Amino acid sequence: MGNLGYQAVFRLLASRPGVVCERVFLAEDGAAPRTLESSRSPAEFDVLAFSLSFEADYPNIVRMLDACGIPARAEARRAGARSWPLLLAGGPATFLNPEPIAPFFDLFLIGEAEEMLTEALDRVFEGSAPRNELLLEGLSSVEGAYRPAAYTPVYGDDGDLCEVVVADGAPRSVLRRYVTDLDRNPVTTAVAARDAVFGEYYLVEASRGCEWGCRFCAAGYMYRPVRHRSKEGVTRDALAGLSVSSTIGLVGAEMASHPGIASTCERVTAAGGRVSPSSLKADMISPRLARALAAGGTRSVTIAPEAGSERMRRVINKNLNEAEILRATDLVVGDGVESLKLYFMCALPTETAADLEGIVELTTRIRARMMEPARTRGRIGRIKVSINPFVPKPWTPFQWDPMLAVGDAQRRIRFLRRTLARIPNVDMESESPREAYLQTLLSRGDRRVATLVEALARDTRGWWSVLQAARRDHALCGGADPDRFVHGEYALDTLFPWDFIDHRIQKSYLWLERRRALAERETEPCDVATCHTCGAC
Ligand code: SF4
Repeated sequence: MGNLGYQAVFRLLASRPGVVCERVFLAEDGAAPRTLESSRSPAEFDVLAFSLSFEADYPNIVRMLDACGIPARAEARRAGARSWPLLLAGGPATFLNPEPIAPFFDLFLIGEAEEMLTEALDRVFEGSAPRNELLLEGLSSVEGAYRPAAYTPVYGDDGDLCEVVVADGAPRSVLRRYVTDLDRNPVTTAVAARDAVFGEYYLVEASRGCEWGCRFCAAGYMYRPVRHRSKEGVTRDALAGLSVSSTIGLVGAEMASHPGIASTCERVTAAGGRVSPSSLKADMISPRLARALAAGGTRSVTIAPEAGSERMRRVINKNLNEAEILRATDLVVGDGVESLKLYFMCALPTETAADLEGIVELTTRIRARMMEPARTRGRIGRIKVSINPFVPKPWTPFQWDPMLAVGDAQRRIRFLRRTLARIPNVDMESESPREAYLQTLLSRGDRRVATLVEALARDTRGWWSVLQAARRDHALCGGADPDRFVHGEYALDTLFPWDFIDHRIQKSYLWLERRRALAERETEPCDVATCHTCGAC
């Protein structure tokens, strides 16, 4: 319920005449799922639609279908005499690469839903075929629809994908849809759910995409080009949201670059509320924004240097230097923010011991800058350092690169934990490299990985044991080697499982960005008014 995309789709469907839309979530105790609105079984509905933001949720699809008594594989549903709901999926994990879950679904809608779903429903209501055919034909006739049954992958002797056979009438590539004008499709909290993640916030979407082009970041590529809502629209929705909650969450990939952010924060603060932006690029935090955040009572701000050394920040195209990070620290701490959260990644391509030490050195310098205002105030805040192992994602310049071996990543995290523990007032949290392995596998895998997704959902041994078993016995992964997806280094001409999606970004551009990364050269942020370099604009 904390996902605004999910809420936008729910609002769109629930407000459409002729459509009944109800929500259903997987119960932790394994109880049979029932819809929240009318307590019906999902199996009674015409369509069962999944919103998928994170790959780690994939086993939950199978658990949900098992709990509903619905065959997980689309082929098995088609083969039986009984008719089942049409299974549909969307959400950011599916625009990156839907293949590891393709065997479960009849249809994916690739991209932003607002216009695509409206067009698809128009076609369903205009059609006159029998009900079950009408749904699949109508929904799959829009641009952005992907029907996995129309595509047959072929694997070579080396086990890699070598060809995809496309059925007559199906498009060779599927265009990822996006909406051009966010003000025509404003997205705000549709259902206030206090117990959900971000339940205490009223959420307002302020932008989609990001102009900065960080090379590890899938969101920065798959939502291109960047689009901002007008500051008038965001402010109006934020002020209206104060009747629901006194805290307004502004949602976007990078909020400090939004042209109206400071004025929106000031207006909300003046009206007695508080703004919490989802993420701020340190060098874009203006003195006015820092003051507005502190005046609204914000006590903790997140800064994401992502890498400790200047060299590594050039490799990942962070467009952010140490002086800018320290200046941002001075601004926010000087204006009253007490605590900081710092995001870093480790195990990035080309990372050396010096880059890891850079994380510790930068944290030490940031802490030193926090101390002076803290002493004056008589209160010393804390620095929480969050370390995430690098996951190579489709549709980024690092899609050709391997994830570091789990043991090596664990050693690097242990080094950081040991050295950061010596700095007072600093706490460290990290994501486990094993989880990063699973995430890489589920984001870079092909259809064969669906077998492993089923095992992860049903096998009681625990997910890491199941993965280890699949590394030894590839039959558990549909005949594919899981390590190839995770630790494989790919050639420029590799046919990736996700290549059939058209994100309008040329593969040659991503490769060029990868070469620039290895040469430690930065790329300027997007200028959507004049640039046509990557192909998205
Ligand atoms: S064409 Fe240029 S401005 Fe547009 S998304 Fe690509 S790099 Fe950014």
